[in-house]
Amino acid sequence: MILIKNIAVLTQNKKREIILNGSLLIDKGKIKALYRRGTALKEAGKEIKIKKIIDGKGKVVMPGLINAHTHLAMTLLRGYADDLSLEDWWQNYVYPIESKFTKKDVFLGSLLGLLEMVKSGTTCFADFYYYEEEVAKAASLVGLRGVFGSGILDLPTFYFKTPFLALMLAKKFLANLSEKKYSSKKINYSLVKGSVAPHMFQTTSLKTYRKSKDLANKYNVLLQTHILETKQELEYSLSKYKKRPVEVLNQAGILDKNSLLAHCCWISKREINILAKSGASVVHCPVSNMKLSSGVMPLPEMLTAGINVSLGTDSACSNNSLDMFQEMKTAALIHKVNKLNPIVANAQIILDMATINGAKALGLDNEIGSIEPGKRADLIILDLNKPHLTPLYNLVSHLVYVAKSSDVETVIVDGKIVMEKRKLTKINEAKIIKQIKNRYSKIKI
Ligand SMILES: [Zn+2]
Repeated sequence: MILIKNIAVLTQNKKREIILNGSLLIDKGKIKALYRRGTALKEAGKEIKIKKIIDGKGKVVMPGLINAHTHLAMTLLRGYADDLSLEDWWQNYVYPIESKFTKKDVFLGSLLGLLEMVKSGTTCFADFYYYEEEVAKAASLVGLRGVFGSGILDLPTFYFKTPFLALMLAKKFLANLSEKKYSSKKINYSLVKGSVAPHMFQTTSLKTYRKSKDLANKYNVLLQTHILETKQELEYSLSKYKKRPVEVLNQAGILDKNSLLAHCCWISKREINILAKSGASVVHCPVSNMKLSSGVMPLPEMLTAGINVSLGTDSACSNNSLDMFQEMKTAALIHKVNKLNPIVANAQIILDMATINGAKALGLDNEIGSIEPGKRADLIILDLNKPHLTPLYNLVSHLVYVAKSSDVETVIVDGKIVMEKRKLTKINEAKIIKQIKNRYSKIKI
């Protein structure tokens, strides 16, 4: 049992309550109790055996951040191809170098991404790539929660040569997860959930999208995909299908509450209404969209329509980091300047996107995304005793506009401490960084 005492608790519960001097009791992976004042060491007259006490004076505990869209293995390509359009970036740089990737590269790239995510306060993420079991293995070793999808497309990749094989591998991944075939004495996959991940319109035919959805339905898992990221994608859809992408997917029966659509920069009003009716969630990835000059997602319009919008970094190859604090600040700012209106996308809306909305997008809002008794204990503790966080008028505003990932001191996932005093507890960070530097860095410093 862990007790976190004398701490400000940003609950993100329905009332968005903030408890200024609270305590949290964590037991068997869950938030057992939330006390509103001071320290509580007794419950129902019984002495509670506390294994660890964390004194939270001058600190805040909040739900761990949820990165709803990334491709962790691509962290190996951070800074590899910058200042390019998405088409040029993907066709001429990323796709050719990825064709030389191996299973081991996927594992090491994922480990590197995971180190960065833990150190910047992310406790849960949605990923899709190839050799996804390696990504899930890396996450399980580090101790993070995630939703993982084996990428599916019609183009050949280093993982498969045909869409038939892509679907076979995706099915095998889901079957192995449901039959617990990956679990071993050394690695516990209990925080791993499967999904199905068709890539995008230009690389994935409607037939492949349909088969992907059949697979997602069979296993009752999320279907995650990229959509309307660029103007070129919209033009491709209009020329091939004579319809816009959301209309195509909707008519094919692919959109429902188990759909998660990344980007939506070029979405129309009509498509927004279709999405709202379908119950599908969206992931906003503003930094990647800005860096690749893809466009600006109409966030205020989507929120007004009642769509669940979450937040993601996309890969470190197009971002170039996995820092959700940076993503939150950018998400808040881009819409203010885009609409010339400081009221849109306020700090609370953005914080919701990075926590409870992310949980809902991944189908995990009954388990994570807020601090409430009975939910799994996925939490982060930030130290507020910093010059840049002083003075303090509004906690939510500070977390979105000022806090840095380096302010995250402790990370707890499913009740287990995965980082304490900025040191990872389950894995040797220095050893992994050394290995990656030796194997990949072009410039040795
Ligand atoms: Zn992506």
